[in-house]
Amino acid sequence: MTASQAAGDGTAEVRPPLMLSTWRRPPAWVGYIAAVSLMAGLYYLLPILGPAGVPVQVVVYAGVSWSSAVALLVGLRRHRPLRRAPWLVLAGGQAFTAAGEVVFDVVHQLLGNDSTVSAADPLYLAAYPLLAAGLLLLVRHRTPGWDTPSIIDAAIIAISAALLSWMFLISASAFATDLSALERTVTAAYPVMDLLLLAVAARLLLGAGVRTPAFRLLAGGLILLLLTDGVYTVQNLLGTYQDGNYLDAAWMLAFTLIGAAGLHPSMARMTERSPAAGPDATPGRLAVLAVAALLAPASLLIQYLRHAPMYVPLVTGSCMALFLLVIARMAALVQVQRHMAITDALTGLRTRRFLEQALHNEAARTHRPEASVGLLLLDVDHFKRVNDTHGHHGGDRVLCEVARRLAALVRPGDLVARYGGEEFAVLLPHSSDADLVAIGERVRRGIGTTPIAVDGETLITVTVSIGAALLPDHVETPAELTLTADRALYAAKESGRDRLVTAQPISTRS
Ligand code: GH3
Ligand code: MG
Ligand code: MG
Repeated sequence: MTASQAAGDGTAEVRPPLMLSTWRRPPAWVGYIAAVSLMAGLYYLLPILGPAGVPVQVVVYAGVSWSSAVALLVGLRRHRPLRRAPWLVLAGGQAFTAAGEVVFDVVHQLLGNDSTVSAADPLYLAAYPLLAAGLLLLVRHRTPGWDTPSIIDAAIIAISAALLSWMFLISASAFATDLSALERTVTAAYPVMDLLLLAVAARLLLGAGVRTPAFRLLAGGLILLLLTDGVYTVQNLLGTYQDGNYLDAAWMLAFTLIGAAGLHPSMARMTERSPAAGPDATPGRLAVLAVAALLAPASLLIQYLRHAPMYVPLVTGSCMALFLLVIARMAALVQVQRHMAITDALTGLRTRRFLEQALHNEAARTHRPEASVGLLLLDVDHFKRVNDTHGHHGGDRVLCEVARRLAALVRPGDLVARYGGEEFAVLLPHSSDADLVAIGERVRRGIGTTPIAVDGETLITVTVSIGAALLPDHVETPAELTLTADRALYAAKESGRDRLVTAQPISTRS
């Protein structure tokens, strides 16, 4: 019996064989990584062929290098990101690396020239500024502002890495007596270029912005590239580097991860502007920064124990710079925390706690003659209905608009706070009874007479009830001021809502 017979109603229902229906083609980026891993495996098997394997190895390695640039361009065509420039520049960087690879192989394998510096070096070296520029373009789109915290974080890592790199890598090449001036410059240029890339990569990885899979692939590729370059430089200095050792696999994987980042569909979202101004101080980040900051003094100790050059002015200068950066970061964090503590997250108004502190300070001044402070307490009328009819989200919109109007309706120097859920408070320093009534009425009408948009199409009118009290005319202490304004608000609710009730002056009380 065939599938169409089984359907019974004459409509042909053709099912593919089970095997095919469950087999889904893997996404391009997965296929790409798998293909390159296979090539890398092959790369290490080729020496079995003896001398014949070497040219094939060269072709495999160069092929993998080029594939990274090609993958970035293919991804650009497929996923059509809004911002093309960062990816084009990254592909350019990868192309320079691959071109350097080809030139290196021609010079070393075909021509048998094994000099330290060759025409491949300018190509290899040119790749780094291009990669760094591509990353910087990504950073610029993701966080358009300065995003000082992540710049500081990146600077801490870059300074620490620069110091280590100078002490253990660059100075060794730069002062090597067995090399010519050109050889010294070129050899030292690699760790310098790595530092440039590291600084920019750190800024990208530590900065705000969406962490899509493409972002993670790129991050993985960059970290692996920098690590491999570092190990290569160390092995080169120690004379332990051997052509075709495991570092080739690490480089191939790094190039592949960078290429795969371009192939992943989420690459198009990587230039999205970050909604958050800056990054959080997560434990992981703090640990990274702590290690980075400690490496500088630790390197001095290591050099001391090794009886090696200590570069004391350089290390001291770096430590001082690191301390200053850490303190700057702390100051910025404290500022952010303080702002968060006094700002209501929904409306952006001050918090109740801030208002109470301000009331306390203002009240202390009311002992002087002619000084006074008024308080308005507002409660939105029948707000539950707004939530019930338009949802919590609609309710939030109304609260934000009420807050915006409140802030616009009071005098400069008056303090507006979110007092509770749908309750607001205004502190009015240097006010008379008449001021209190005038401002209270202005606020009540300003909110109640113009409708508010709860969503794209619905306009609703909400009213507020207001209780007002004045220190020292109506009460004697700040605590009484709050209590009395609250009672007045209750009275406003009881007598029908959408009204202002002011407390009674002390002099008229019986
Ligand atoms: P009344 O005129 O007596 O003040 O009536 P009401 O419906 O406003 O009564 P009540 O003050 O008891 O209700 C306040 C409601 O405000 C209850 C709560 O669900 C809602 N609310 C509190 N905070 C928020 C908020 O942040 N967002 C939204 N959407 N609703 C909130
Ligand atoms: Mg209420
Ligand atoms: Mg209410």
